[in-house]
Amino acid sequence: MPERLKRFQRTGVLSERELLKGRQVPDAKRLKQGPAVVIECVEEIPCNPCAGACPRGAVTVAPSLVSLPKVDYAKCNGCTLCVARCPGLAIFVVDYNHSESEAAVTLPWEMLPRPEKGGRVTALDRAGRPVCRARVVRVLDTKALDRCAVVTLAVPKRFWNRVRSFRVGKAAGTAGAGRKTRTADRRSR
Ligand code: SF4
Ligand code: SF4
Repeated sequence: MPERLKRFQRTGVLSERELLKGRQVPDAKRLKQGPAVVIECVEEIPCNPCAGACPRGAVTVAPSLVSLPKVDYAKCNGCTLCVARCPGLAIFVVDYNHSESEAAVTLPWEMLPRPEKGGRVTALDRAGRPVCRARVVRVLDTKALDRCAVVTLAVPKRFWNRVRSFRVGKAAGTAGAGRKTRTADRRSR
């Protein structure tokens, strides 16, 4: 594992700084141009559904199956189709221009209860710590998504790279901390 991921190796939680040093985050210019994917996948294990999920060919896992995914930000339009396809729950989409003061963070959600559109939840960081209150602006939960809902939260812009999960009511959970960790049954499909 590269030097820049030393903290992740120790804690199992990616820091914002570590992520920004990686290759799968839009730079400041791209972030302001429109919705874009953020891929928080840093462990080299055989996996590549993200590449097959993108209809625009924006994600590649090459030259081998254990290579880390690479994003071509000129191709990604932030459609969110790849979010539910990652067995590691490591794919997010950020729309920095959601509103004047808010960014929208789209994330995978396998837990129950599902949040309700228009409701409020507690947004959490990668370590499961509360960050802020967030508005639920979209919930996609179809059969095709195979039990992984895709939820979009509106959060203050400054938290675009911090919010990665949320808590509904008294139930808490995290949406992914940058590891290829999803259940084996899903990976084998
Ligand atoms: S958000 Fe859409 S366009 Fe971007 S990588 Fe994912 S599937 Fe491709
Ligand atoms: S864990 Fe997710 S992001 Fe990483 S290679 Fe697999 S599908 Fe792609």
